[in-house]
Amino acid sequence: MKIGFIGLGNMGGPMAANLAKAGHEVTGFDMAPVQIDGVTMAGSAAEAATGADVVITMLPNGAILRDVAAQVIPAMTAGACLVDCSTVDVDSARAVAAEAEAAGLLAVDAPVSGGVGGATAGTLTFMAGGSDQAFAVAKPLFDIMGQKAVHCGDAGAGQAAKICNNMILGVTMIATCEAFALADKLGLDRQKMFDVVSTSSGYSWTMNAYCPAPGVGPQSPADNGYKPGFASELMLKDLRLSQQAAESADADTPMGALAQQLYAQFVETEDGKGMDFSAMLPRFEKRHRE
Ligand code: NAD
Repeated sequence: MKIGFIGLGNMGGPMAANLAKAGHEVTGFDMAPVQIDGVTMAGSAAEAATGADVVITMLPNGAILRDVAAQVIPAMTAGACLVDCSTVDVDSARAVAAEAEAAGLLAVDAPVSGGVGGATAGTLTFMAGGSDQAFAVAKPLFDIMGQKAVHCGDAGAGQAAKICNNMILGVTMIATCEAFALADKLGLDRQKMFDVVSTSSGYSWTMNAYCPAPGVGPQSPADNGYKPGFASELMLKDLRLSQQAAESADADTPMGALAQQLYAQFVETEDGKGMDFSAMLPRFEKRHRE
């Protein structure tokens, strides 16, 4: 396939490289001067999109996505497919899909989980929203860049699944960290805490697979000085998107709202920026009851 790839950062760069390695003809564009193995660079987003069967975007946020979409949609050939893999707000995802469809294009919103490691290894999970026809066009590319793709529903459904998942993740990480900090203050050995909780009703992905306590459980960013991993500021971004969606859908999400507030405090006033999101554990450890 002829693929245009716009946004070749930490995630987009390795994803585009994997498509090129699999034999696709990839033309890329990024605002920053980047070089990606096997990818021919274009002078603009519109140029990268011209003549492409599929255009993939991997951009920082919804406002930038809307801006880039306004440039690439007019340049795309009718029947081609626009696949946005960025994590953005549901409203932007739906607006971009509607514009693409009005221009005779197919559209898929397909945010990912798996981080930079998954992007490099080609093991991402894609959560996709769009028509059956659009998903069928994008699926072979998801199979190269990832190991699983779930068609979640119509436009915006991929973003909805992503932010609901990450709202659970943020809330659960906080719950796991505050419980460890309490256990510490009660004099409980961390390994014993892990042994009990990881096989009891308090178990979760954050405890069992990504334990925030160093030296306990499987290898995780806690064992590497809380270097990300999944940075706290990215968790904050996703929690903000979840609360924006909750606001627009009139959903009551008190735990998600509190998780957003705690990560905002951590990132903006407590040196959490650049730390893995599991560094909530040392944060709680240092604190006292207010
Ligand atoms: P990044 O900042 O490394 O990459 C974004 C790229 O977009 C940059 O290279 C930037 O120069 C480029 N860009 C910005 N505006 C542009 C424009 N107008 N035209 C062309 N290029 C433009 O970010 P990332 O870590 O690659 O994340 C990309 C998306 O993936 C985000 O939405 C993020 O939330 C999501 N995501 C990231 C991770 C992760 O672990 N990094 C995991 C899952 C999802």
